[in-house]
Amino acid sequence: MTKQFDVIVIGAGPAGLLAARQAGTAGCSVALLERKTDIARLDRMCGQTLVSLNDYYFDELIQYNPAGKRISFLSGGLSFPYSGPVKHLYAWNVFSPDGSRLAFGLPEENRTKGVHAAVGLAYDKQILFQDLLDEVQQAGVDVFAGIDVDEVEQTADGVQVSGSGKVFNGRYAVAADGTNSRIARLLGCNASRELYSYLLCKGWYMSNVRFPDSDILISSICYEGPAPGYMFIFPRPYDGQATVAFLALDPRVDLDDVADYFMSHNPFFAPWFSQAEKLQQLASAQYVYSPIEAPLHGRVLLAGDTGACQELENSGAMISGWKAGNAVAAAVKEEGGGIQQRALEEYVCWWKSVYLDACSHEDYIMNFAMPYVLDTAEDFNFLCSLVKEPLPPCWNPYAAIKHLGGLMQQVMPAIQQQRPEMMAKLARMASPMSEILASTTEACTPVREFD
Ligand SMILES: Cc1cc2nc3c(=O)[nH]c(=O)nc-3n(C[C@H](O)[C@H](O)[C@H](O)COP(=O)(O)OP(=O)(O)OC[C@H]3O[C@@H](n4cnc5c(N)ncnc54)[C@H](O)[C@@H]3O)c2cc1C
Repeated sequence: MTKQFDVIVIGAGPAGLLAARQAGTAGCSVALLERKTDIARLDRMCGQTLVSLNDYYFDELIQYNPAGKRISFLSGGLSFPYSGPVKHLYAWNVFSPDGSRLAFGLPEENRTKGVHAAVGLAYDKQILFQDLLDEVQQAGVDVFAGIDVDEVEQTADGVQVSGSGKVFNGRYAVAADGTNSRIARLLGCNASRELYSYLLCKGWYMSNVRFPDSDILISSICYEGPAPGYMFIFPRPYDGQATVAFLALDPRVDLDDVADYFMSHNPFFAPWFSQAEKLQQLASAQYVYSPIEAPLHGRVLLAGDTGACQELENSGAMISGWKAGNAVAAAVKEEGGGIQQRALEEYVCWWKSVYLDACSHEDYIMNFAMPYVLDTAEDFNFLCSLVKEPLPPCWNPYAAIKHLGGLMQQVMPAIQQQRPEMMAKLARMASPMSEILASTTEACTPVREFD
């Protein structure tokens, strides 16, 4: 006879690990099911930074405690150990193709303010996974690696989850299977979502990249291909190392061409890579859907990127997984004790107010859609050349777009005077994202299956 669990958590990323830990710590019997055979192995590209340290993100202020080796979320009390190395990051600088800089913070200024002014934190996600897995196991969770979940059935009083020839029965389930969630699709949650694009990424851990500062995040845009390409440089918490990622929303873009453009051809960037050594390759492919409006489907709660537009970032996934774990543990108690049910609904309300209402998904996508608006390298070079003052230090995709909106107001008179033809392009920023990305959406259709 199969064991009956209180809670089944599907997916052991940041969201699933924290959901399982919370429910286990609360005394629930929990099964954590993960497709990877080695849960601590990172097999999907990630910049491995914490977004964002110098403002509230999802209503939480994130702090790293070097003495206690813990990461804490100061508003709600989420905290967990992280035993690996870190590097505080002091700015995010966006460079145009000719090397003009749009600075979210000047590192030389912000660094002098100390760690509380850091915008982000670089860490090693494999060490984080291992530390969280240890916590999960200490919480008494039954961990099942190598289970590729492909079926979820609900009854009036339970959930049956199947995968890799095994069946698990629970009272509630948390789907934390990430941005390409098969569970969301099986439950029919994607039917009402808008597909904007894919996000495709290929990159490497590298050593000896000679970028201007080793403790800042850097990004840029490549205008050479059939649609924009992007480069992000994420410092690693190891001397001289960075993760260099090349991305596109559009499958017609060849990511090797984007990498070649930055590493070999662009006169501003190529010298940074002349001595660079590739240490390890990582890649990812994901959907960019509009978010799921109600992350509760019967007895299945959705957590982390599963219900998000593109991604909640690691920090958002952690907060959401932690909340979801608490909510299902409370639901088990409510049901067992005949207490009026409210915990799952409270999670849904939290999702709506803290994510859907406060964090516009179109703002999020605008971080990538900007070159669809200013669609030539000359436009973007010109915009950056007008920027005389740094924008506020920031590593928060939602706040960055607001800062950019303020900048546009400042530079509009100069654009109007010197490049009036750019005004019509900039007006497109107010269009629905589906219009801005229409050509790429078409190139992504019919939708491939990434799971
Ligand atoms: C290129 C790139 C760079 C990024 N950089 C950053 C960054 O610098 N900072 C930041 O905060 N965020 C970053 N992110 C986003 C971050 O990686 C995610 O937001 C975060 O990992 C989401 O956590 P999650 O637990 O919701 O999902 P995931 O981390 O995707 O975890 C989902 C888990 O579910 C498992 N799974 C999937 N399907 C099944 C199934 N059917 N059965 C069982 N298990 C399954 C997967 O194997 C995985 O372990 C980046 C993402 C990309 C693509």
